[in-house]
Amino acid sequence: MKPEGHEGTILQKSKNYVKFHRLLAKAEADGRLDGKHRCPVCGMRYLAAHEADDCCRIED
Ligand SMILES: [Zn+2]
Repeated sequence: MKPEGHEGTILQKSKNYVKFHRLLAKAEADGRLDGKHRCPVCGMRYLAAHEADDCCRIED
């Protein structure tokens, strides 16, 4: 990775921040924030148990 200036680092961080909030808004719209079922790995909430199970499932 190339070393970047201070401004570049801040820009990258704010970009990630915006991305995070978009994901959060989407999760909220999907009802995931108050879903009854939680992924045991990352804690993301889902309305359906099978969705929570599939979230971070490791493929065989
Ligand atoms: Zn997960």
